[in-house]
Amino acid sequence: MELSENALKVLRARYLLKDEQGRVIESPREMFGRIARSVAEAEKFYGDRACYWEERFYELLSSLRFLPNSPTIMNAGKSPGQLAACFVLPVEDSMPGIFDTLKNAALILQSGGGTGFSFSRLRPKADIVRSTGGIASGPVSFMKIYNTATDVIKQGGARRGANMGILRIDHPDVLEFIRVKRDAKELANFNISLAITDAYMEALRADGEYQLVNPRTGKSAGRLRAGEVFGEIVASAWETGDPGLVFIDRLNRANPTPAAGSFESTNPCGEQPLLPYEACVLGSLNLAAHVKGGVIDYDALGRDVAVAVRFLDDTIDVNSYPLPAIERMHKGNRKIGLGVMGWADMLVLLGIPYDHEKAFRLAREVMRFIRDASREASCALAKERGVFPNFAGSIYDAPHMPRLRNATTTTIAPTGTLSTIADCSSGIEPLFALAYKRFVLDSELVEINKYFLQMAKEQGFYSVELFQEVMRRGNLRQVKGIPSRVKRLFRTALEILPEHHIEMQAAFQEYTDNAVSKTINLPNRAKKEDVARAYLLAYEKGCKGITVFRYGARRGTLVKFADTD
Ligand code: ADP
Repeated sequence: MELSENALKVLRARYLLKDEQGRVIESPREMFGRIARSVAEAEKFYGDRACYWEERFYELLSSLRFLPNSPTIMNAGKSPGQLAACFVLPVEDSMPGIFDTLKNAALILQSGGGTGFSFSRLRPKADIVRSTGGIASGPVSFMKIYNTATDVIKQGGARRGANMGILRIDHPDVLEFIRVKRDAKELANFNISLAITDAYMEALRADGEYQLVNPRTGKSAGRLRAGEVFGEIVASAWETGDPGLVFIDRLNRANPTPAAGSFESTNPCGEQPLLPYEACVLGSLNLAAHVKGGVIDYDALGRDVAVAVRFLDDTIDVNSYPLPAIERMHKGNRKIGLGVMGWADMLVLLGIPYDHEKAFRLAREVMRFIRDASREASCALAKERGVFPNFAGSIYDAPHMPRLRNATTTTIAPTGTLSTIADCSSGIEPLFALAYKRFVLDSELVEINKYFLQMAKEQGFYSVELFQEVMRRGNLRQVKGIPSRVKRLFRTALEILPEHHIEMQAAFQEYTDNAVSKTINLPNRAKKEDVARAYLLAYEKGCKGITVFRYGARRGTLVKFADTD
């Protein structure tokens, strides 16, 4: 097993089992064995091939061709072992409702999961509180309490703590929400996004007004000019990266189980829309490990998709859920989210620049292949084990539709930590830099892109001086002595135009059941109009949401809550 120095560091710090004195008591090999064995336990509910599947799972994981989300790596085999990364909890408009959910969120956080919440049901600031005769403090004030609780809980937990906070664009407190993170001290444990409705987009297009609604009464609470609110959104996002947008009506049109509820939020990094009390287990295929001799090994990829789908479906059966309501919901829809990492690496190995037309075409081809293969695998499981229990009334409950074991099969996660473990580029992001200093836990490491290093040696343009320059600059644009073809191939995130970032997100979204995690990177000199254009383009191109980040912008929260920071 080939693990990089960084991978070993992260595994030792957070993933390998420790004894009570904090000494590491398992090797990475044993860790993969623990995961394979405990997930394959689920096979015993369905047949007598647990040993066979344990071996298949072990082989897939230990070769780093596929990894499940962090909670599975950390907690598999433990008792209780909470294995899912993504949750959404509803927040009701009452004191017991708000604080019961906070308690439940604390349990999820403690178990290594991240939670998304919509605060849209909370009555607005200065609205009446009948029981006390007082006035309400509004959703943003309660988000601050959730944020503080996260600070306290994360100190005892395994991870940094990650939340998504959503407010509908038609909530009366929308402007306060849009501006809240301009103060860097506020909501540092939250990514925030606006739930954008079609009605709002229509008003924005027509340069008109739209209606605000008081969620307590369901009645109108005034009107705002769509363009003015958009200006505020763009100003905040330009300055801090928040808020992102979630196109909520689009999410609900793609809801596979409308009879079981509707979407009001996603998980913390935005890739997984979920119903209230729903959870999802994610896993990512390492695309770089599926290139053989300069071409994609689709046979191997297809086999790995099938094993990964089975692994994720098994994970649901051996999971210890933090709440009975979550267990009921997850076991009702059995959502899994298989995605990819190492996409930028795959493109380098195939000699295709990230922002080339061929790359967008290939993105569709690869993701379509994975979606189809994952649905086939889910159908095969349904034949063995039955369709997901909420199948009746789902969009699949119709003639000529596949009979699936899982209401969704595909999601593209950020893979903040997984990509470090697998030593590949993260998710579907371009390379961020070719050389950088990185703080992994407490030590500083200098990293040079391994493919670039190899190519430089093979093609004879390697020299110590040249590499020092690459290290200083992080990209190749102004470095002399490097063939232009190589410069084009290794373009980094900030050299790629925002519209090409969005095009890539849209290409993957087309064949992804859930959503796609992607950061639309903008150079520091980008203007507010560039942010506005990116937000509108994401809507136009069929993305389910968008997050931008302007390089060097002040930011309280990282989009990715990686364990390596
Ligand atoms: P990983 O690589 O560790 O598996 P990702 O970066 O792919 O994680 O994130 C996937 C999801 O895992 C996020 O959208 C979120 O739901 C959850 N998550 C990520 N980081 C954290 C964290 N620090 N605390 C809690 N949940 C997290």
